[in-house]
Amino acid sequence: MLRLEDSYLHKGQRRGLIRTLREKGIRDEVVLDAINQIPRHFFFDSALLSHAYEDKAFPIGEGQTISQPYTVAFQTSLLEIQPGDQVLEIGTGSGYQAGILYCMGAKVHTIEYNKVLYERTRRFLPKIGVQVQHYWGDGSLGLPEKAPFDKIIVTAGAPLVPKALLAQLSIGGRMVIPVGDRKTQQMLRLTRQTDKKILRENFDNFSFVPLLGDEGWE
Ligand code: SAM
Repeated sequence: MLRLEDSYLHKGQRRGLIRTLREKGIRDEVVLDAINQIPRHFFFDSALLSHAYEDKAFPIGEGQTISQPYTVAFQTSLLEIQPGDQVLEIGTGSGYQAGILYCMGAKVHTIEYNKVLYERTRRFLPKIGVQVQHYWGDGSLGLPEKAPFDKIIVTAGAPLVPKALLAQLSIGGRMVIPVGDRKTQQMLRLTRQTDKKILRENFDNFSFVPLLGDEGWE
């Protein structure tokens, strides 16, 4: 229970993290406010608790990571979330990114490929008041039964843009996805302008764990 306390110390550390994110160029106040509201240390194993407000990725078990706060802030800013948006997240992991999206008023559907992480996070998020829809499966294929989505965020590195995900974007919808090799990926934003026209914008390089599955890595 101790780890679910949000103390003055943690709140102060969170304000420090927000300052760091501003210094690194994050300007979206709605995103920064969500990061300030969600206690990142809730998502950490007790052995790593003291690192929760460092701007770094950390292990969450099963060989996976909770993304670096800068990466979460950057991807979320690119999405330009509006309250009520139907959002699909690929790679639930710890649930931290899903919590940020929920805090911004999105209706979140999140898919995880790893059964242990899926079960753990599905049970954990409601305990801290985060209500999102959880799915276990291959997110590289999206979630056709709930499509179309206003926003899609992929939080693992893909070898290419999965066609199935593009097909599940509404008109005006946006997908933010890191694409590249297994070590380094470029952040892309794809906006569906019409049925046939997709605007592609390229941003900085990042380093994600691999997206597995049919339209991911083997
Ligand atoms: N968004 C997460 C968070 O806030 O903690 C961090 C995600 S972690 C960097 C990437 C996650 O993607 C891992 O949990 C991994 O198991 C998952 N993953 C990899 N391939 C996947 C796939 N095809 N479908 C769904 N999840 C996948």
